[in-house]
Amino acid sequence: MDDRSNSLIRQECSGSVLGSQHRREAIRRLSEERVDVLIVGAGVTGIGCALDAASRGMSVAVVEQHDLASGTSSRSSKLIHGGLRYLEQFQFGLVKEALTERNLLLSRLAPHLVRRVDFLYPIHQLRERLYAGFGIGLYDLLASRGPRLLPRHRHLGQQQVTKNAPALKGRSHKGAIVYSDALVDDARFVVSAARTAAKLGASIATSTRVVGLSRSKGRVSGATVRCLESGREFHVSCGTVVNATGVWSDDIEAYAGESNSRVRASKGIHLVVPRHRINLETGLILRTVDSVLFVIPSANHWIVGTTDSDWHLNRAHPAATHRDITYLITTLNEVLADPLTTDDVVGVYVGLRPLLAGDSEKTSKLSREHAVTCSTSGLVSIAGGKYTTYRVMAADTIDAVGVDQGLDLPKSSTDQVPLIGSDRYLQLRAQISEIAEMSGVLPATVEHLLSRQGDRIYEVLDLIKEDVSLAELIDPHLPYVLAEVVHAVRFEAALHLEDVLTRRTRLSIESPDRGTNSALRVAELMARELNWDRNKLESEVGHYLDRVAAERASNEQLDDVTADAQRLAVGEIRDNLN
Ligand SMILES: Cc1cc2nc3c(=O)[nH]c(=O)nc-3n(C[C@H](O)[C@H](O)[C@H](O)COP(=O)(O)OP(=O)(O)OC[C@H]3O[C@@H](n4cnc5c(N)ncnc54)[C@H](O)[C@@H]3O)c2cc1C
Repeated sequence: MDDRSNSLIRQECSGSVLGSQHRREAIRRLSEERVDVLIVGAGVTGIGCALDAASRGMSVAVVEQHDLASGTSSRSSKLIHGGLRYLEQFQFGLVKEALTERNLLLSRLAPHLVRRVDFLYPIHQLRERLYAGFGIGLYDLLASRGPRLLPRHRHLGQQQVTKNAPALKGRSHKGAIVYSDALVDDARFVVSAARTAAKLGASIATSTRVVGLSRSKGRVSGATVRCLESGREFHVSCGTVVNATGVWSDDIEAYAGESNSRVRASKGIHLVVPRHRINLETGLILRTVDSVLFVIPSANHWIVGTTDSDWHLNRAHPAATHRDITYLITTLNEVLADPLTTDDVVGVYVGLRPLLAGDSEKTSKLSREHAVTCSTSGLVSIAGGKYTTYRVMAADTIDAVGVDQGLDLPKSSTDQVPLIGSDRYLQLRAQISEIAEMSGVLPATVEHLLSRQGDRIYEVLDLIKEDVSLAELIDPHLPYVLAEVVHAVRFEAALHLEDVLTRRTRLSIESPDRGTNSALRVAELMARELNWDRNKLESEVGHYLDRVAAERASNEQLDDVTADAQRLAVGEIRDNLN
């Protein structure tokens, strides 16, 4: 790629830079100007809404109490899928819609972040081969509109499975079916979508919390927002408030005087296990009593999940207990020839599904569909749904904003808006050795950066050009380089050490030391960028180490309540830090 194309990318994307200057300007704008839409929450749903509204020409701002994707949107199974198990619940419409979105993300919207993944579905009897074969065949069929992006499923005999999946006990199957789906780094996806929304004019302010709503002329007309960095509160005027706060949805409704509970939080945990511990060529899906268990390939690791249980404690800090971890290991060990132990687990993460409250006792039976409501004029809430369908959820939400404001908005066109990083990605993938040679970094690093930044790779390579020491690895066992820390601060809205170690990179779950050995070095780099003094630097590192210690302690507790007490203590530390 020549210098002219590079500078073109740089010019095109200058509005997408989410550094501290963007945040300062966003807060100024919020406190001085009225916006058409104020979105609360910067998970995939809120950011999807920002992108949708901005692309329809509305003025938009997003406020997020912590970091981009700091809620559920960085803690999912990372599958962009139709959800095979929803076919058994006869949710054909939901599956078809999600598969259409999957194909759009793979081909046009985010090919740099969403990629194919294959799963092996072991079969135990002939009847099951027919039943599962029919279901998976239907799954392929529902995805078949437009060009075929993923191969059709195929059946494997017992011997072929033994060859492709040596990790499985011989007597744990009588063959298998292999099918294809898609995978994403969920936190990176939100960053890329947020930058795209900013490029279209959205203002995005992290570390700002809505603490109240205001009314005028009988409708919600704004919000009181607290900046968690300075403690300052200010008032924001807007046409409509969009409540995209996931499991916090009912809190925002309560600020408007609504007391009905609409969202039920369902906890799901995942384990991170090194790749070499499970000898498989593809991912694995196993049926469990209530749901399914996935073993998902993710760079140098496997992600094993998930669970599904009610959660009534601190929503900012859901905890995985020893019982949750043992359940996943025991279920998986039923089919593994070389069983896992807790010592094989390098990381654990926990998320809360914002499910629509329904009649079922079990959260695994609640619908994954979404609902847009306008309980009072000026406030539109979006709840439920799945990561995969965020774009459809956003379009429905902004349609409802149009109705709320009595506007004849143009139709959503986000199916035509590729995310930042996607444009020249495929072209650059074919030039890995040339880019490595030109920039002086290893081809493996170019490949790693391309899969995270797409055509924005030049932002990171430019930093390395200025200072070659930034090409060094942060952790010798993982592919992240120091330049990614600086990039996260200058371009991707990272404000705190945890943002970089947990979401911009995955050191917190991929490194056996959970990122503690890298914390000081990363904090020192961030300190240079963000003008932290020694006290601030030490408190950031101290907070991170405390959080890891509390998570480890939670993982040893048997029940949720004691585990949550540990996490609550760390939550308080974070609030004091801000
Ligand atoms: C274990 C698990 C596995 C999953 N796996 C998949 C999967 O593989 N595929 C799939 O498609 N879906 C999956 N999902 C579902 C998917 O992850 C969620 O539907 C999605 O991430 C929800 O995003 P959200 O933006 O609605 O909520 P969130 O990501 O939680 O965002 C809400 C945001 O609002 C902010 N907020 C709250 N209150 C305030 C306030 N007062 N002021 C400012 N900000 C506020 C929060 O800090 C948070 O960042 C999974 C979910 C879980 C829990």
